[in-house]
Amino acid sequence: MIQNNNDKNSDSQSAPAARAAKEIFAAELEGLNDKLAERDAELLRLQEERDAEIRELNEVKAQLEEAKSILEIRVSAKTKELRDLTANLGKEVEERTRELRGKIEESEHSRVALMNMLEDMEDLRRRAEEEKEKTLAIITNFADGLLFFDSSDCLALANPQIEAYFGASKEDVLSLIGKKIGGLENVAGFKPLVELVGGSLQKISRKELFLSDKLVLEVSSLEVAGRHGKIGTLVTIHDITREKTVERMKTEFVSIAAHQLRTPISAIKWTLRMILDGDLGPITEEQRDFLDKTYKSNERMINLINDLLNVTRIEEGRHLYNLILVNLEDIVYALAGTYSELLKQKNLSLEFKKPEKPLPQVKIDVEKMRLVVSNLIENAIKYTPVGGTISVSIVSDGANMRVSVRDTGMGILKDQEERIFTKYFRGSNAIRMETEGTGLGLFIAKNIVETHGGSIGFVSQEGKGTTFTFTVPLASSAAPKT
Ligand code: ADP
Repeated sequence: MIQNNNDKNSDSQSAPAARAAKEIFAAELEGLNDKLAERDAELLRLQEERDAEIRELNEVKAQLEEAKSILEIRVSAKTKELRDLTANLGKEVEERTRELRGKIEESEHSRVALMNMLEDMEDLRRRAEEEKEKTLAIITNFADGLLFFDSSDCLALANPQIEAYFGASKEDVLSLIGKKIGGLENVAGFKPLVELVGGSLQKISRKELFLSDKLVLEVSSLEVAGRHGKIGTLVTIHDITREKTVERMKTEFVSIAAHQLRTPISAIKWTLRMILDGDLGPITEEQRDFLDKTYKSNERMINLINDLLNVTRIEEGRHLYNLILVNLEDIVYALAGTYSELLKQKNLSLEFKKPEKPLPQVKIDVEKMRLVVSNLIENAIKYTPVGGTISVSIVSDGANMRVSVRDTGMGILKDQEERIFTKYFRGSNAIRMETEGTGLGLFIAKNIVETHGGSIGFVSQEGKGTTFTFTVPLASSAAPKT
């Protein structure tokens, strides 16, 4: 209350001061208000800034959360992948281990197999060595002489028989190892062999090498081929001295026997002829018949003896040739005309095809050539059944005269074709059809033709017929061999 009294006193005293204070206060208040407003504005701005920051933060948070979820997805995918990988890795490791174990087993097998193979190889090598030794022993002790030339045609091996055959020492033969066939001449004894074989190795089949009366060799050479081609050439040399001696003795015997038989048989022939011609008095029909048959048999015997003599002459190299320049056509034509009787008996026709223009002359041995032509015509008559046809022709091809005898006969069996010109060979169908025959005619014919420098051959069809053709070189183009 006291204060109130004081206040009444002061009121009256300090009203202006109060008013001033009031004004100051108001001003201060206003300043404060301004400051407040400023502070509010500041607060508002801060508020806004905070809101903006919160928004930004929220956005960042949202982004972070999105990134987090993406990461989580990735992490879980990777985790799964890793888990799968781990699982697969396990499997793979297992598989690889199994594989490896397999491979180890396999290589163990291979090792065992290799060892076995090595053992087999060793075995094979040993056997090959044994075989080689055996082969060498065979070659060394072989009765024939052997010369082996390697694939470059150089002498690689010669057995001891070679030394004996060619009069050479072991050293001589050794000095020839590695030489070509021509080089064998370095040792004199081998000269005849080199001449026979010719300068180079070639296929030779049973060529005869006359070294002396006491030594005749047969030389053959053939290519030796292995699985991968030519290995070399083997020349075999066989001693045929004994065979040659026996052959010569046989030929001599046949020659002597045939000569000895010729005289009595000729005597029989002429005696029979005289009886048949009635020179020794009349004979009955029955006697004529018998004597006629005997005469024909005797004729066959004479032919056989002549054939044998011709063969022995060929074999002894005594088939002398008297060569003259003649017209072969005339000889063939004349011969073809001498078979009318035989042809009539078998009802065969024989035609001689005359050449269109005159043929050149040839240098031949007329008698021998007659033998060839008559043999071919007689065979055609013999081996052609009744009613058949025979045709004889002669042509010139500029270098040779070509004589052919064609028939419509039984033909030659395919599997016997190769043997037709060999001595004493008669076809099985020929033996059935014509019991008479020596199998010497074609052998003689071939020798005669070849001695004239020609050749002989045939084409035949079983059951249809045969054509024999031989050639004679024209006088100007080839000189006959004598
Ligand atoms: P040969 O006539 O005495 O038997 P060759 O030496 O003349 O002797 O003939 C040999 C073989 O050739 C005959 O046996 C025969 O088999 C065959 N031959 C020859 N010519 C003919 C031919 N024209 N037709 C069929 N075969 C033939």
